Amino acid sequence: MKKLRPLVLALPLLAAAPADDLVARAARIHREAIVVDTHEDVPDALAEKPADVAVRGATKHFDIPRAREGGLTAPFFAVYVPASHADGGAARVALDRIDMVQNVVAAHPADLTPALSVTDIRRAKREGKIAVLMGIEGGHAIEDSLGALRDFHRLGVRYMTLTHTNSNHWADSSGNFFAPRFEPGSYRVHHGLSGFGRAVVREMNRVGMMVDVSHVSDETIDDALEASRAPVFASHSSCRALAGLPRNLTDDQIRRIGAGGGVVMINVSSVFLDQGRVDAARDALDALQEPAERIRRQYPDDPKRAAAEINKLIEALPPRPSVPFTKVVDHIEHVMKVAGPDAVGLGTDFDGIPDPPAGLEDVSKLPRITEELLRRGHSEPEVRKVLGENFLRFFARVEEVSRSLAAEAPATDVLK
Ligand SMILES: [Zn+2]
Repeated sequence: MKKLRPLVLALPLLAAAPADDLVARAARIHREAIVVDTHEDVPDALAEKPADVAVRGATKHFDIPRAREGGLTAPFFAVYVPASHADGGAARVALDRIDMVQNVVAAHPADLTPALSVTDIRRAKREGKIAVLMGIEGGHAIEDSLGALRDFHRLGVRYMTLTHTNSNHWADSSGNFFAPRFEPGSYRVHHGLSGFGRAVVREMNRVGMMVDVSHVSDETIDDALEASRAPVFASHSSCRALAGLPRNLTDDQIRRIGAGGGVVMINVSSVFLDQGRVDAARDALDALQEPAERIRRQYPDDPKRAAAEINKLIEALPPRPSVPFTKVVDHIEHVMKVAGPDAVGLGTDFDGIPDPPAGLEDVSKLPRITEELLRRGHSEPEVRKVLGENFLRFFARVEEVSRSLAAEAPATDVLK
């Protein structure tokens, strides 16, 4: 036994190698930082399969124990309204989802707290709680009503993607790339924002709702940047230069969003991160064109049934393989290179994506991002910016613009 002792004593010395210094430093920085994730589809996952978020495994990518392990301070739960509700009950779907989020938060007061502002997020961090915020996904949720937009803000919604994968009555979408036939031209209804769409953006500025350009078309981004009186952001989009999806942002868009004080929040879906995955997805979907046509001919008078059947084909495709999580950091660094270190953050899209990267399988793995940023030589302040401070600076600016417009009367525009 005695002979073994020097060996045992030597072990802690080995453990203090530089790599572990980095892990320990990353853990400390991550623990102290405010960590914001601007897009998680937790409500959608819970609507599909009800569960208690206090229980591990509640949804695929989120629950309170894993959020704690991941050091998550402030997730935005997406109030997602599927395009199928665009002309029937979209606002009601949004209201139901908002009610659900509020019930989930109220059921766990020791862990979760509702948050509406930058101040609320910082307070939650001090109190050791997780601040839950809400963003609407799909501008059709307001049913073309500025009154409904204001009501959603009163209920606590703090951002809205101007579209989902559907063009609505006032804004064009980048469309649904993940369909057997993807025709970008078919989504070009207004060539960007219509006059009413611009009024929506201006009213969002007035009430203090963040303008989100994730999912919208390139022309809509141009118009949103021009119409908005506050900086705009992308809540869950990555870089098109690295993965050529129309849902990702071009370098020019990233530059303009950043120059205006906005942020690009990186989506961690493997297909959003890697050109090989984009090409493979396109090939697999193209192969479904003929079977999809057959289904359409089979249900000529029932487009909803046809869409559901086509969806089954898409869901039956083999799972898309994951890419290494370090690709997420490639995208973060790309935004830094293009628009500077103040223009980037995290909008994982957890629970909305089937293919998170290997090593970033759910919210518990977020500290990996911190480790990788440090490993690549980024400073502590830079890491804290990526994790949350960039977003908080942007959000604070949106709040400031809203305050500066306090004397402006509520807009009365109606869609003609
Ligand atoms: Zn989305």
